[in-house]
Amino acid sequence: MLSSVSLSRKRKLSDPPHSSSEPKKLPLPAVASLYNLDPAATGPQQIELRRKVCLRVGRSKKNDIILTPADCSTYHCEIGVSYLNGKDIIYLKDLSSNGTFVNGLLVGKDNTCLIRSGDKISFAAECHYILKYQASFTLKSARRPGTGSFYDSYVIGELLGCGHYAQVKECVRRSTGESCAVKIFNPTRKDANWATSLNRELDILMKIDHPNIVRSYETFVEPYDANTMTTYLVLEKVNGGELFNRIVSKGKLRQNETKALMSQLMSGLKYLHSLDIAHRDLKPENILLDITLRSSDSDKQTGPWDAHELDVKVKIADFGLAKFIGATKFTDTLCGTPAYVAPEVLVNSTERKYTKTVDMWSVGVLIYVCLCGFPPFSEELGPPSMRQQIIEGKYAFYSPYWDEIEDSALDLISRLLVVDATKRLEVSKASKHVWFDEVRPKKELRETAFKGTRAVVTRGYSNPIMLAERVKSSLGDDTLARAYSADVDMA
Ligand code: ADP
Repeated sequence: MLSSVSLSRKRKLSDPPHSSSEPKKLPLPAVASLYNLDPAATGPQQIELRRKVCLRVGRSKKNDIILTPADCSTYHCEIGVSYLNGKDIIYLKDLSSNGTFVNGLLVGKDNTCLIRSGDKISFAAECHYILKYQASFTLKSARRPGTGSFYDSYVIGELLGCGHYAQVKECVRRSTGESCAVKIFNPTRKDANWATSLNRELDILMKIDHPNIVRSYETFVEPYDANTMTTYLVLEKVNGGELFNRIVSKGKLRQNETKALMSQLMSGLKYLHSLDIAHRDLKPENILLDITLRSSDSDKQTGPWDAHELDVKVKIADFGLAKFIGATKFTDTLCGTPAYVAPEVLVNSTERKYTKTVDMWSVGVLIYVCLCGFPPFSEELGPPSMRQQIIEGKYAFYSPYWDEIEDSALDLISRLLVVDATKRLEVSKASKHVWFDEVRPKKELRETAFKGTRAVVTRGYSNPIMLAERVKSSLGDDTLARAYSADVDMA
């Protein structure tokens, strides 16, 4: 049977005792609850925490909350709610020599720590609770309101990935058992850029509905501590990891495979651009893959996938840097990851003007990377610097890496990696390019064939480094990105 302990009947530690003639005060509101993670355990299933009340927890009958496990101390800890600067904060003071643990970390005897929504508190080896704020204390998104707190509707699971602004974890919807992903924004990143980026992402995501774009279901904004809030963004869960990992594990992708993936990317991008939305941060880390495996050899594959795969769906993710392009048709924030960023974004100008075409440059870089396994612009290919290579549109199709690739692929790339953004192929035209059309007669193919030059790597000069090698030698794109963004910031 479920039992619940409320603090309403408990004394407020700071209050003097009431005289019998005084009118009874209404209980202070419950701010949060601790939920027992083991429904079969003997301890209370739910412990309500009320404003300005402190609860003592332990094995002794003198405690407010009595827990029976043998490894729980007589007086184990105190949990209280303080009202500070107009906010309710929940703290825990460890009184035990056996230790109280928050998210697996020991608080330590006589130490006090803040407890936040979603924190797991372990009073003993087999006695764990999770804290969540009451629904009335949470601010729900007005766009697609969920009911109550995130933890009312979802059970949180393993970490799926970490980004610049957030952690992404697995979660299961309690009502349906559906597996989803939740992006939990880092509440400590409170700088203006972070807040702007977050609101921008939420605004955009709630309006988007396309099979090649990660679906977003609902958002919850909940207190994290006295001064910060955390946003939970519930997303469609994508099971096959990042395109980045696929390239790294295979070295490079087959031509027909790249074609099939990129045409899905184009479809998602076409939808976004038709809504006047630029993604602005397209790179292999932001392209997720939803993979359905074959259950037998007789299962007919939907495309040129690996032998064990039935279907691979591209899902564009992470709109952290995306923005609606308004009437002025340009945005003025410097953004994106340098290796994939368009030249106009890097140009040293007080008025940076760029639009959806920045995505088409990134698509050019993406197709290039998929087909040969290394990026067209990098420090190793210099001099000049990667920045200068991008600004000048200086890249080449190195032999022998490009020898076997169809001319039409080179043609498409060279129509995308065009420094003059007004001359760059738009998504509607790029998606109709002959490279995507397997059945188009050879004659037409030849008409649009690539007329540029295939460069040869000069020995001892510029040697491309494969993405896979970069990762092995910890020369990940992030390392480059960081080094490079310093350069960009100074521009
Ligand atoms: P940030 O905006 O902070 O950079 P991302 O949106 O890029 O965060 O997410 C970080 C990582 O989490 C991704 O690279 C990916 O590995 C994983 N991830 C993100 N969204 C999902 C999802 N819907 N399903 C599965 N994994 C995801």
